[in-house]
Amino acid sequence: EDDPSFWKDNSIQVLIRIRPLNSNEISVQGQKRCVRQDSSQSITWTGHPESRFTFDHVVDEYVSQEELFNVAGVSLVDNCMAGYNSCMFAYGQTGSGKTHTMLGDIEGGTRRHSVNAGITPREKDSRREEKLRFTCKCSFLEIYNEHILDLLEPSSVNLQIREDLRKGVYVENIKEIEVSTARDVIHQLVQGSTNRKVASTNMNRASSRSHSVFTCVIESKWESQGVTHHRFAQLNLVDLAGSERQKTSGAEGERLKEATNINKSLSTLGLVIMNLVSNSNKKSLHIPYRDSKLTFLLQDSLGGNSKTIIIANISPSFSCTLETLSTLKFAQRAKFI
Ligand code: ADP
Ligand code: MG
Repeated sequence: EDDPSFWKDNSIQVLIRIRPLNSNEISVQGQKRCVRQDSSQSITWTGHPESRFTFDHVVDEYVSQEELFNVAGVSLVDNCMAGYNSCMFAYGQTGSGKTHTMLGDIEGGTRRHSVNAGITPREKDSRREEKLRFTCKCSFLEIYNEHILDLLEPSSVNLQIREDLRKGVYVENIKEIEVSTARDVIHQLVQGSTNRKVASTNMNRASSRSHSVFTCVIESKWESQGVTHHRFAQLNLVDLAGSERQKTSGAEGERLKEATNINKSLSTLGLVIMNLVSNSNKKSLHIPYRDSKLTFLLQDSLGGNSKTIIIANISPSFSCTLETLSTLKFAQRAKFI
């Protein structure tokens, strides 16, 4: 009933964000592009054969962080405040703008209204409901090679996903920090992002080879006729591993395991989402949540009454044409099946 109209009849929204060409791309390819935006909902891949795609939203390089937040972030936060679990995924090849979209420019840790701050740091600001009281706890983790690392407590090891009738799916022993201002949220994000960089450097791998999940558990409390009511909802902001095709041929040992796990978790996510889209009325069908840590962890936030936004980030450069096509196809599958 209090469902924001943004969602219409669909619980999955797909948004394409085209980032600006960078100086390297311009120096190699000039202004030559692989996509053309046709409208606020459609985009054409200009390779052969030309292919046109339609999504809930298509935004170009001129869309600011703030505008993007207004399109995608506000409705997600509202949804969460109304008691529904919500997920936002940033999908795309390495360098396409996933982290820019999710975190933006948070260095310095205090620029709460900075024009370049991404979606996550803004999300607390729109919590302006007065009738209800909210508390918010956040956690921040990374999934690398199917292992969970607590980005707010990097010394803890081997965290496990558990399932409980009352609590649902959760990560055992993960650090949860109560936050009350946007500044607190940014502080945790900066801390966690720094830890993510350190962890990847220590392990000698790129952070683009892991997924990160920032979770806010929002508890709303209200009184009615002398009784206190509680409601919990989770907001999950997921910066996915780079979607570029992982080469398994020629890779060995850790690299092979890594590539296999990235392929597996992204394809499982794709399958889970496709199942949700095609079976939204049929509850009983098997959905392969448990085939990857990421989907198992997010099980309670995908499907049911939950809302999901996928932001598929693409480079418009001609040099990225194949990866851009593959991202558009992934996003398309999440939309119609
Ligand atoms: P990813 O996380 O997908 O690997 P990044 O978010 O790190 O990619 O983006 C790669 C580079 O492109 C960064 O320097 C980032 O600041 C820049 N960038 C990405 N998207 C945008 C955008 N929409 N506007 C301006 N710069 C962007
Ligand atoms: Mg990134």
